[in-house]
Amino acid sequence: MVYVLSKDGQPLMPTKRYGKVKHLLRSKRAKAIKRCPFTIQLTYDSDSYTQSITLGVDAGSKTIGLSATTKTQELYAAEVTPRNDISDLLETRRSLRSSRRNRKLRYREPRFLNRTKSKHPGWLAPSVRAKVDSHLKVIEDMTKILPISKIIIETASFDLQKIKAMELGLPTPEGTDYQKGELLDFVNVREYVFWRDNYTCQWCHGKSKSNILHTHHWAYWKGDHTDKPSSQITLCDKCNDSKNHKPEAKMLWGWEPKITFTAKGAAFMGIMRWSVYNELKEIYEPSGIHIKMTYGYITKANRIAYNLPKEHRVDARCITGYPDVLPAEEWYNSKKIRCHNRQIHKSNPKRGVRKLNQAPYMVNGYRLFDKVLFKNTECYITGRRSTGYFALKTLDGQKIHDSAKVKDLKLIEPRKLYLTERKAQV
Ligand SMILES: [Zn+2]
Repeated sequence: MVYVLSKDGQPLMPTKRYGKVKHLLRSKRAKAIKRCPFTIQLTYDSDSYTQSITLGVDAGSKTIGLSATTKTQELYAAEVTPRNDISDLLETRRSLRSSRRNRKLRYREPRFLNRTKSKHPGWLAPSVRAKVDSHLKVIEDMTKILPISKIIIETASFDLQKIKAMELGLPTPEGTDYQKGELLDFVNVREYVFWRDNYTCQWCHGKSKSNILHTHHWAYWKGDHTDKPSSQITLCDKCNDSKNHKPEAKMLWGWEPKITFTAKGAAFMGIMRWSVYNELKEIYEPSGIHIKMTYGYITKANRIAYNLPKEHRVDARCITGYPDVLPAEEWYNSKKIRCHNRQIHKSNPKRGVRKLNQAPYMVNGYRLFDKVLFKNTECYITGRRSTGYFALKTLDGQKIHDSAKVKDLKLIEPRKLYLTERKAQV
């Protein structure tokens, strides 16, 4: 897929007509402006016909899934890894500073009036803030290359309003746009029960070492055949064995676990996802892009119904509401990297010599995280030796070379804050 911008920089519909793109580029009627994902900008006036495109976002703290679909096909699929090292880095910094206060070292200006941040409305912990910002940035990048008209994001894995109604035996509130159905209600309750029971088997409490969880109607033996959330409990597949259900097993038959309906902590569960949702509304609604939310159980039910693999980009496609459209031919894997390393000295210097911890920005014309070609393999510079040699790795962390020579490298793309690789759909 080639992404296309108009002469004035507005996104147009992407194209698969590679021959035409080649022709446009050769005749200088378009110019390439981005390599990955490949984007061209037309240099002549064109009509700005666009279809409606929905962007699905599978928000997550480890992986963000993205998918842009029309009614007939998927135009873009991506998985992004936000930074996960922030809280560790802050913790290290805190302990180093605290030990430094007791030693006679370089002068540091006293800091004491710097504790107000947490009182600002909308303040988030730095690690959460970084993740929210990553979500917003990758969504912004997509709106620059695709004419997106609607963004859908998952805010929680289950619908608590529905759970409450089911518990009290009230008619379940039906959303205007989300599908109804027994499978959906079943998956919703399941997700809630797993969350309530802390994703652990309530019989063996994880002793069986099995990760496969089931929901069990524990009150069945009492004659309670309802699907009420409080009549269900989490069991692992080992404990949920059919022989354990029989009265003579003296296990599940007659078991009366203490369960109280709880919604405690459900508000905090999705603090990151809610922040993304609210900030998306603030940013995009004024420009006419609709922001909608959905629940994880709906995504999951869709994934099961269409027998799709469990991948974040596939979940994102389910979120758009078009799980069965033609998938994109390729997908993009990207990773957020640190902008800068501010550590001045190594904390435990070798042989007691205090040395600068920062390598020069440029080494033989290359920077950290530049994308280079080394013996026909695309990889990234992950380390620069003072001797002028380079460590090379791919985005998944696979080592290509430990000390590659400069003359074997060819610069493909200078470093960006999000390193992106194109991958073939399997
Ligand atoms: Zn168990």
